[in-house]
Amino acid sequence: MRICLALFCLSFHLVAAAQAALIIENVNIVSPHLSEPQFEMNVLVEDGEIKAISRTTIDVDGDVPSVSAQGMYLVPGIMDSHVHVSSVPGMGFGVEPVSRENPKLVEKYYQQQPRSFLYYGVTQVLDPNPGVHWQEFTAANAHPDYFRCEVITSKSTFPLVEKIDEASKVMFEYLVDEGTTTGAPGSPEDIVQAIHASGALCVKLYFEDGYGNASHWPLLSEETLARIRHAATLSGLLVLAHANALDMYEKAIQAKVDVIAHGMWNWGEYSRENQIPQPIAAVLDQMVRQGIGYMPTQRVIAGLGEVMLADAKDNPEFPAVTPSEMIDWFGTPAADWFREELRVGFDRLPDQTIADIFIHGRVGKGALVMRYLADAKHPILLGSDFPGSPSFANQPGLATALEMKMMADAGVGLADVLAAATINNAERFGLQAQYGTVEVGKVANLLLLSENPLETIDAWTRISYVILNGVLIERSTLAANHQAGRRLKLGSARVSFSCTRPC
Ligand SMILES: [Zn+2]
Repeated sequence: MRICLALFCLSFHLVAAAQAALIIENVNIVSPHLSEPQFEMNVLVEDGEIKAISRTTIDVDGDVPSVSAQGMYLVPGIMDSHVHVSSVPGMGFGVEPVSRENPKLVEKYYQQQPRSFLYYGVTQVLDPNPGVHWQEFTAANAHPDYFRCEVITSKSTFPLVEKIDEASKVMFEYLVDEGTTTGAPGSPEDIVQAIHASGALCVKLYFEDGYGNASHWPLLSEETLARIRHAATLSGLLVLAHANALDMYEKAIQAKVDVIAHGMWNWGEYSRENQIPQPIAAVLDQMVRQGIGYMPTQRVIAGLGEVMLADAKDNPEFPAVTPSEMIDWFGTPAADWFREELRVGFDRLPDQTIADIFIHGRVGKGALVMRYLADAKHPILLGSDFPGSPSFANQPGLATALEMKMMADAGVGLADVLAAATINNAERFGLQAQYGTVEVGKVANLLLLSENPLETIDAWTRISYVILNGVLIERSTLAANHQAGRRLKLGSARVSFSCTRPC
């Protein structure tokens, strides 16, 4: 048995080389396609896929290692369908001067980032604005399966319109030239075709005429939006919309987008009561009728508020997901630049007041909207928009876990949170043949939890093992503060290993 432990646990490389198949024994399966857990099941994983699920012993030829997972819960890996892997918390999109001045820190961060997502059970991500560093994420030897959208914007519309430095402008490769004839270079049809050829899953459009109540930026014309929609449909690409204000939601719905990638926090003239004001309910009802996906992205707002708190960098969860040098940097004057931007934006109100505006005001509106849609049985999509802003209060993987916690806090049921994190995203993005449930034929991206996620939201942070494309990884080895060679405490994880034959 000792030899098996060493095989499994010494390093990810060793495991990947050694393990083509795995049997998970006596595990309780929790999956969104099941109305209740299936207890004491056996699961065979082989060549990165779930090959068999059985109540009785699974017979296999040859030496196949097995995991006795008595009392544990096997769930599908989490999909966060709104993350930005080029962005660096506390720094921006990874192209700004602050990133360029700290190349070693940025490099360390990028090395840890994929492992931090896995540490919190995120085994698939969708990046709707990949920026210029996403290939560093996919080059890592262990990283969540990666999908992306590409942004279509123009020189006069958000987000390009607000970028002043050349390095930031480089991020936007697909610029549409409004008014060009069908199929001409730079036309909506030409741009959508190029995005399709790049291997992206979707296009992302921005419905943003100004932050807060401002409305000084133009939007793409209705004709351009219609041409993009038509071309995307022909190419089989989904259309994602950035929108978070009532009027921008109306425009996105009118443009027949597939998913709105932010919660609705800006209610225009309407204030928060104990229920949704009728004009807002009418827009949400329209979303439900058109089947438009909804990503709450509550962590965007929470992250803006939390960064204003004096102890923001002392979050006890950070050391597991963030290199220690980076946490130290968050405490330096150089890292204060974004807080200072927020202070200026709020006319130098006290930091605590600014924090409260975000944490209690706008988060509360987003929570009411989420609850309204969940009550209407409209599938919610887990998307954290990590990091959402240059706030360092959001860290990889942790932001996803907190987003799920915010769903539960808003009153979304635990079965609906499970669906939001798994099958809803898989179905919405056309990936349900590979992901979203624990069923034969699906990709073996799975989690072993020590508690039942249908009983407590905290189960999602009590991960013992992550199974990525069929490879078993002990969670603690993914942590930023994991010390290589440290003795493993397997007894506490309640998992023991054996092999079908001496190994
Ligand atoms: Zn985003």
